[in-house]
Amino acid sequence: MTPLIGITCGLEKRDEISRVYISSDYVNAVVAAGGVPVLLPPLAKPYDLGKVESLFGTVSGLLLTGGVDVDPVHYGEEPLPALGRVDPDRDRLELVLARRALAEGMPVLGICRGIQVLNVAAGGTLYQDVPSQLQPAGQVLLHSQRAPCWYPTHEVRLSKGSKLQAVFGCERLRVNSFHHQAVRSPGRDLVVTARAADGIIEAIESVTHPFAVGVQWHPECMWEADAIFLRLFSRLVEEAAAFSRLRVATEITEAS
Ligand code: MN
Repeated sequence: MTPLIGITCGLEKRDEISRVYISSDYVNAVVAAGGVPVLLPPLAKPYDLGKVESLFGTVSGLLLTGGVDVDPVHYGEEPLPALGRVDPDRDRLELVLARRALAEGMPVLGICRGIQVLNVAAGGTLYQDVPSQLQPAGQVLLHSQRAPCWYPTHEVRLSKGSKLQAVFGCERLRVNSFHHQAVRSPGRDLVVTARAADGIIEAIESVTHPFAVGVQWHPECMWEADAIFLRLFSRLVEEAAAFSRLRVATEITEAS
């Protein structure tokens, strides 16, 4: 069976119409990697954990996508002036899904906002705004590139022995960069597996979970230009297939 990969979506209001949306780059990357994409929209109030549980039970892997800022209330901070737009419904859905995935061993890949959601779900903290919080203390790189999105603008160094390094098969990688927030302190059981030259955390992964990985860059914009970036999605799909087989086997055992 081809595994279903849940892709989280955002909300936006344009021309007085509220829309659920996600960049088709995420959908295309999952398809190219051999998975079946399933879009998971933020759920409107009244909140119903049973519905979130149904979404969780439908998919075998989770792709937490890029988007607006995570509300700092979820990591115990008040908002700073440079905090961007937040989406309470999306925060709520993604944090529940990420915590369920971490608890159940469901494969999860977080991209940009997604690495931040994964980290906050595990009790970690974020920089609400890298330029205003870190620039005064010293040099930080340009993390909001104005180059085309498929074009890598800064290097990251991958940690030896990490899952991420195994996926890419190298220790230095050039990536794109479209973020003003970043992971500050990694959450429970998460370790840093890539940093930019200015020390900004560019990837994290769980040391206790089969595959819970977050990257700060956007591989979904890069794989068509450089196939190496498709490997991350291929690994997510492989891990999801393994999780799906395991879940079916567990259900059969429990039923008999
Ligand atoms: Mn960056």
